[in-house]
Amino acid sequence: MKKLVLLALLFSFMVVLAACGGDDSTSSSSDDGGETVSNDASIGIAMPTKSSARWVDDGDNMVEQLEALGFETDVQYAEDDVDKQIEQIENMIVKGADVLVVASIDGTALSNVLAKAADQDIEVIAYDRLIMETPDVSYYATFDNFQVGVLQATYIEEALNLAEAEGPFNIELFGGSPDDNNAYFFWDGAMSILQPHIDSGKVVIQSAQTEFEQAATMRWDGNNAKSRMENILSKAYSGGETVDAVLSPYDGISRGVIQALKGVGYGSGDLPMPVITGQDAELASIKSIVAQEQTQTVFKDTRDLAAVVVTMIDAILTGEEAEVNDTETYDNGIEVIPSYLVEPVSVDIDNYQEIVMDSGYYSEDELE
Ligand code: BGC
Repeated sequence: MKKLVLLALLFSFMVVLAACGGDDSTSSSSDDGGETVSNDASIGIAMPTKSSARWVDDGDNMVEQLEALGFETDVQYAEDDVDKQIEQIENMIVKGADVLVVASIDGTALSNVLAKAADQDIEVIAYDRLIMETPDVSYYATFDNFQVGVLQATYIEEALNLAEAEGPFNIELFGGSPDDNNAYFFWDGAMSILQPHIDSGKVVIQSAQTEFEQAATMRWDGNNAKSRMENILSKAYSGGETVDAVLSPYDGISRGVIQALKGVGYGSGDLPMPVITGQDAELASIKSIVAQEQTQTVFKDTRDLAAVVVTMIDAILTGEEAEVNDTETYDNGIEVIPSYLVEPVSVDIDNYQEIVMDSGYYSEDELE
């Protein structure tokens, strides 16, 4: 009996969820009396890798929200292998996906496979990362990527009080993966804040690696970042200089950098950890922030991004225009893709409780 009550409760919860999450087009009639969505449509979701917790959250959130509305989902992770991702997308097309949601590994490698999708009239939503050099992308759901970089660099600027302190301060710069369009937005956003301080001499890059190409981290790999930081420390900081801050665009990179810094004694004795930024508010990095190793991260609420994607899918399937809030910024080399940008939030020791715990993104148990 108890079981039945629980099932009934669960069912009514799903119905309420479906009613709240959908708009007119997911109900049985639409405003204009036109076509309505058949909620048994199948959505192919291609994700880059499970090695970073954020993408697992992204996949889980999309499945939860789409399945609550009755959609079928097929989520595939490609473990950062570009050919594997292409194969997975090909399979989704063959299996008859109605819409594809793709977070690319290499943004320039999908033109051929997306042309095959277009041949079958399957529309594509670029998820978080813009897919480049193809006309076959209908929408782009992402965060304000330039703002992510601004938040990271502003955090450093304020933590070191660059506006007033005399300096100079030693900062090292890390960039994201050169095959990910987002990496350039993060970098440009960050440099819009840091470049004037570098030009004035208040900030010194001891490694002299000041260009994106020198600072880039292929496939966002934390181990590569660790090796690069180790090299920088041994070559540019052997004369007693200390690192005051590290611009890191992603939590996995931040944790690699922290390992390198700890390896030469930072975070112990009279050598404090520098200010270290990050992105994604991954659980491991929230723990690191609580342990006062990583200083900051940028939280991107993947629940909100999934909700944006649901509205885009809905619009595609009903033949309507999806709501977007940016029609200028994201040119993929062929055309500007209509985009919806969600706001990222800077998180540190002072607000992590409110932003990622109290909002239910993580539970207290997970943090232990
Ligand atoms: C995403 C970031 C993420 C990075 C590494 C980027 O495309 O926008 O949130 O940190 O990839 O996975």
